[in-house]
Amino acid sequence: MTATTKIANPRDVAHNVMALINELNLQPTPQVYHVFYSYLTNEVPELSQLIKVLIRNTQELDEETVFRIYHKYLGTHAMQQHLNQGVEGLQAAVERVEEAVHSVMRDTEQFCTEFDTASQRLLLDDITLEDARTVSRSLSDTSNKARGCYGDFNGNLEEYHSEVRRVRTELEMVRRDAMTDTLTGIANRKNFDTSLRDAVTTTMESGAPLSLLMIDIDHFKDFNDNFGHRAGDGVLKAVARVLVSSTKGADTVARYGGEEFAVILPDTAKENAEKLANKLRENVANQRIINKKTGKDFGKLTVSIGLTAYHLGENILEFVDRADQALYLAKQEGRNACIVQ
Ligand code: GH3
Ligand code: MG
Ligand code: MG
Repeated sequence: MTATTKIANPRDVAHNVMALINELNLQPTPQVYHVFYSYLTNEVPELSQLIKVLIRNTQELDEETVFRIYHKYLGTHAMQQHLNQGVEGLQAAVERVEEAVHSVMRDTEQFCTEFDTASQRLLLDDITLEDARTVSRSLSDTSNKARGCYGDFNGNLEEYHSEVRRVRTELEMVRRDAMTDTLTGIANRKNFDTSLRDAVTTTMESGAPLSLLMIDIDHFKDFNDNFGHRAGDGVLKAVARVLVSSTKGADTVARYGGEEFAVILPDTAKENAEKLANKLRENVANQRIINKKTGKDFGKLTVSIGLTAYHLGENILEFVDRADQALYLAKQEGRNACIVQ
């Protein structure tokens, strides 16, 4: 599959992106997807060129390489640069449109004068047929000029519209990027804060239950010390995947910080949240952590979970603190446990 500048149907692009990700044996995280989407649509030519070379050389295109490519060409920094360029382009387009408006106003004035003069000549009593024909030809010239002028003006407006669309798309990408944790591809802390605020507001309005889980990997420092930071990063991604695949659409799974995750469960009472928390805990514990390249088994990994439900009217800090205290107690209890507060 190669990059192309024109793929008409977004469904086909999505299908091809997924096929390529599978072919390369990569995980379809949002960043990986974005990189190959960009490759197939030739969104960033330098990125497409690089991926083409890597694929052609059958060089190993592992997740780490893809992440580096993502950050270089599509990450927040790159997006910011694109956005700045987009805004500059937009300003230039606005200036061109302003100029075009002034020019069209000047031309219109001129056309009006020409039409007035022509109509006065046509009204003269002694006008000859020859003169009338000359006036008619000049009127026709003027109207052709006017048509050309308004056509150019229209072109300027279209250019302006396409700049607006481009900047809007880039803004959307920057916004999405700013809400995503770069390592795991799940919601980041900022996204968590916003989602929790929204969930609390909804619960205050509707009175529906709302639960919150704080999840921390057990003895993760030992894991890093024994197997290295890169393997640790792989574990964080694996845990994020388990959490996402064990929850449903309305739930928000976020990386709260370091090796700590949080799950917001709207419309979920404590009892159901506890069942889910224990399912998450077991799903993580049942995962065998294996190094994809060497096949080395890193053994078992567990998480501790603090769970609490929102008390109507309390502030968000109290809510989060109570979940944190529950997590602390789960650690005290010996880990691989869920404590409800
Ligand atoms: P506990 O069971 O009490 O939670 O013990 P712990 O070792 O998991 O907790 P501690 O707070 O002592 O250590 C957390 C470790 O998480 C230390 C830090 O190196 C690691 N960590 C935090 N963020 C990352 C990351 O992004 N990547 C990797 N590989 N490790 C991380
Ligand atoms: Mg820990
Ligand atoms: Mg911790």
